[in-house]
Amino acid sequence: MIRVELLPEEHVYSAFVRERMLCGQMYLNTKRFFEINDIAYHQLHSQLPLNTDLMSIILKMDLTPEQTLNIQLEHTPVALWLLSTPTVDVEYTMPNNNALAGINIDTRWRFCPQCVVADMAQYGVSYWHRSHQLCGAKICPIHNHLLHSHDELKVLPFTLPHHWLETAETMSLQPWEIEWQPFIYHVDKTIKADPLWPNRVKAQIRRYLNCESQLPLKQSEHKRFDVLAKQMTADLGQEYMAELFSSSRPDRRLKTNILWATLSGQVGSAKIRHPLFWLAIIFWLRNELSECQHLI
Ligand SMILES: [Zn+2]
Repeated sequence: MIRVELLPEEHVYSAFVRERMLCGQMYLNTKRFFEINDIAYHQLHSQLPLNTDLMSIILKMDLTPEQTLNIQLEHTPVALWLLSTPTVDVEYTMPNNNALAGINIDTRWRFCPQCVVADMAQYGVSYWHRSHQLCGAKICPIHNHLLHSHDELKVLPFTLPHHWLETAETMSLQPWEIEWQPFIYHVDKTIKADPLWPNRVKAQIRRYLNCESQLPLKQSEHKRFDVLAKQMTADLGQEYMAELFSSSRPDRRLKTNILWATLSGQVGSAKIRHPLFWLAIIFWLRNELSECQHLI
C-alpha cells in the first residue's frame, strides 16, 4: 500500500497519510479509503507499533522478514516494545485492545516546529518523526526544542505536522521529566543497535531484585515486593509514578504494584505489559545495573 519512499525517521503512519494525499484519495470518506485499499478501518495511534492495525499496513508492503524488522525499528517506536515481547520476532503482533491499560502518559502525536521547517526545506514536505512519538518524549533530540501537540492529535487525522503549526501548543515539561528525555532516546538507540539488550537488562533486574526463580513467582513473595515498590516510589517520587501509571494517581484507591505486575508473571500470562512498566524499573535502577552504565 505504501509506495512513497519513507523519509529518515518517518513513522509508518506518516507515510500512509502522505500516500493517501498523493493518490488523490483525500476526497474519499475515510472508511471508504480503507475499504478500497483492503485494510481494516482503524484509528492511527502513535505508540502501538505491534498492534495488528499498524502491522496490517507494514505487511502490505511485501517485505522480507529482515526488511520488515528494519522498517519496524527505523519507522515505528517498536524498539521499546522489545522490552515487552517474549521474543524478538517480527511476526509478533498483539491485539488492538488493552495495550494502553494502566498507562497515564501522553500518547498524542507530537512534532518539532524546527524539524518541520528543516524537513520542508530538504524534502518539500513535513512528516511525523518516529522518535518524537517515543514514550514520554517531549524534547526534539535534534533541536533540543520542546515538542508541540494538540488534543485533536490523540489519534492521527490525515494531516501532516505543518498543518498544525498555528494551532498546536508547546508541551510542558515537569522537573522529573528532564532526566527522562536523554534516557528514553538512549534506551531506544541501544535496542535498535542491539535487539537482545532487553533480555540482558531484564535478567539483570531479576538478579538485582533477587527474583530469578521460575515464573510465576510464589504468592509469598508479594510482601517483599510491596516493600520494594515502596522503595521505588520513594526513590522516584509519588508525582513521577502518578504521571506514568494511572493506578498511582492520588485519587485511585487500588494501587497496582508496578514491580509485581511486571516481574511476577502472575498477571494474565497471555497479555504483554506496556514497555513503560519495564522502562520505569530500568530508570529506577539505572545506576545499579552494569547493562545501563551507558544510559547515565
Ligand atoms: Zn527538531
